Amino acid sequence: MDKPILIIGAGQAGMQIADSLRQEGYEGRVLMIGEEAYPPYQRPPLSKDFLAGTVTQEQLLLRAPDVLERKKIELHTHARVVKIDTSAQRVELSDGTQIDYAKLALTTGCRARPLPVAGADLQNVLTLRTLVDTKTLAAALAQAQNIVVIGGGFIGLELAATARGMGKQVTLLEGADRLMARAVSPVISTYFRDYHQAQGVHISLQAQVQEISGEAGKANGVTTRDGHSYPADLVIVGIGIVPNSELAQAIGLECHNGIIVDVYSHTSNRDIVAAGDCTVRKGSAPDQWLRLESVQNAVEQGKSAAASLLGRERPFTAAPWFWSDQYEVKLQMAGLSAGYDHTALRGTIESGSFSVFYFRHGKLLGADSVNQPKEHMATRRMLDKGVSPSPEQVQDLSFNFQTLLK
Ligand SMILES: Cc1cc2nc3c(=O)[nH]c(=O)nc-3n(C[C@H](O)[C@H](O)[C@H](O)COP(=O)(O)OP(=O)(O)OC[C@H]3O[C@@H](n4cnc5c(N)ncnc54)[C@H](O)[C@@H]3O)c2cc1C
Repeated sequence: MDKPILIIGAGQAGMQIADSLRQEGYEGRVLMIGEEAYPPYQRPPLSKDFLAGTVTQEQLLLRAPDVLERKKIELHTHARVVKIDTSAQRVELSDGTQIDYAKLALTTGCRARPLPVAGADLQNVLTLRTLVDTKTLAAALAQAQNIVVIGGGFIGLELAATARGMGKQVTLLEGADRLMARAVSPVISTYFRDYHQAQGVHISLQAQVQEISGEAGKANGVTTRDGHSYPADLVIVGIGIVPNSELAQAIGLECHNGIIVDVYSHTSNRDIVAAGDCTVRKGSAPDQWLRLESVQNAVEQGKSAAASLLGRERPFTAAPWFWSDQYEVKLQMAGLSAGYDHTALRGTIESGSFSVFYFRHGKLLGADSVNQPKEHMATRRMLDKGVSPSPEQVQDLSFNFQTLLK
């Protein structure tokens, strides 16, 4: 049998590489190896509609099983790669099986960051990354009344919103002085804090968790360093993710909190590509590293990786974007706002439909839009075209961004 192009990790990025290889006309074998029990599925609904029960497991699948079959994309689930031998071009699975490959792609994603405090290993302290995690969480939520969510980033806030939607008492503890601090400006943080509070979530900022207390192996509360105690019958930890880059490190690929790739998804070994959450790339500022944990990044890097595997060039240079759904509020982010020196508001915060535009030296860096999908789309197009509206144009609701995009 021919040696396949082998993709380690059957998630969003892995699926995209396999699909794009076929779209690029590659007719040889394509084999995806994934340690989870399921074919590639979407993760975003795990903290939202799937957990709330309004999306089925079947709807999560990125491609129906018959599509994989039709495209002749081979998939080994329940299979974990434990070793790569680059000189023999062979991988080894945890059950000892050896598989030869012609070319290699790494799309190993990330895992939930563990909380380094006493009690984090108690039975009802949960994290969320996989479908199995969601099933465990859904079962625990059905039994719980008092939930403490640790971490006020996207996942923590989405989980708080979903749990509130189920009528649970929710306390959210965030160590920083505002929500989603790494990604959005204070205006957006404050809007979401107020929104969650109005929905009945108790939010504590600058809350450094010291310990999770428990009895008979089960958590019953969370204590913060300032001496506060929060009773809980379920604790959910959402404090970020850690890249699965150990395999890459073991074969000497350059890593820096993720596998370093360029815009073509090449790793430091020209024969190996990597894509998705497990990667990191250089930003435009000195010492700036970008690890973009998003569907767009996984998909676009996947397309670049497939092209590179076939010796073609398809750089991923589009502006980054991301979204988060909390209650009926849709937050959409375009561009990277880090380093802004000026902001301009479009719409009003009171109306619940507004965007914060970020500028540096008069140049548009990006915008965070709240229930303003058109502004989000326009921002992405302006960033991709390299055009900037002025702050005055942003504030003027009668100004149509399309004039700049013609
Ligand atoms: C709850 C949740 C909500 C999210 N919401 C959003 C959102 O609203 N918007 C957005 O843009 N993004 C969102 N994301 C992020 C988005 O889902 C990820 O960026 C995307 O899934 C990354 O795809 P990936 O292929 O890089 O990694 P993954 O989808 O994680 O796939 C990696 C796969 O590799 C497997 N693997 C790892 N090591 C091995 C090995 N050695 N052998 C075999 N298999 C291995 C893993 O088990 C995993 O299945 C969310 C993520 C989560 C968890």
